Amino acid sequence: MHEMSIVASVLNIAEKEARSADAQVIRTIEIEVGQLAGVEIPALEFGFEVARRGTLAGEAELIIHDIPGLGHCRECNKNVAIDSYIPICPTCGELVPEVLQGKELRVRSIIVD
Ligand SMILES: [Zn+2]
Repeated sequence: MHEMSIVASVLNIAEKEARSADAQVIRTIEIEVGQLAGVEIPALEFGFEVARRGTLAGEAELIIHDIPGLGHCRECNKNVAIDSYIPICPTCGELVPEVLQGKELRVRSIIVD
């Protein structure tokens, strides 16, 4: 389950940030997960529940921002929503070569005390 390794690196980043800010507790971790990033949100949430124990984020809230898939269709010459790993334009059915967003996987902010 690669969500566990994602959680581990998110916690790692959060703890480093907290230590460099001389914080005792991590209150909130906000992350962005693109719908095309290949990440199962429930698995991520479950992994966080387990992995945060014993860390500075033991009581932290995990806020996940879902970033919808968006691509640019050359055929239609406009930006279109993409909801699958194979980027197909919902209007014309052509393959969309440029995926503009939806592959994000990053820590947006960390709130510490
Ligand atoms: Zn199109």
